[in-house]
Amino acid sequence: MGHTPDSDPAAFLAGLPGNLTEPQIIGLTPLAATAFARGWSPQTLRTYIRNRYRADNVVSPSAVYRRILSRLPAPPRRAVARHARPDIPPQCTDHLGPDLPMRTREDDAGRVMKCPRCHPYSPDYRRSSATTDA
Ligand SMILES: [Zn+2]
Repeated sequence: MGHTPDSDPAAFLAGLPGNLTEPQIIGLTPLAATAFARGWSPQTLRTYIRNRYRADNVVSPSAVYRRILSRLPAPPRRAVARHARPDIPPQCTDHLGPDLPMRTREDDAGRVMKCPRCHPYSPDYRRSSATTDA
């Protein structure tokens, strides 16, 4: 117990369509193990493979799986990681955190607005950062 069949690379491969033979599974196991070590879960990896595997056109399932597994991108991230986009500029010093919802200021009337200095979606953001205007 404590070891679900899904987390075992060989068992994972045996569960894929194509009826891989045991030598084929043994040959692919290091690739699947690497994928799991990189952060892929059996669920996300199975979905990824199924989206790319076309059973009716496949002559050699093990070759297809080898190609897919050896070209895997970074595993899908959770919403938290998607939130921190690299193209978001650094925040000014007077916000509580780097998240965009926190990059607000109040105007003279006390209304909350997006910070024009560090919030890319502020209507004044581009204007304030651009030195020339067309
Ligand atoms: Zn700011």
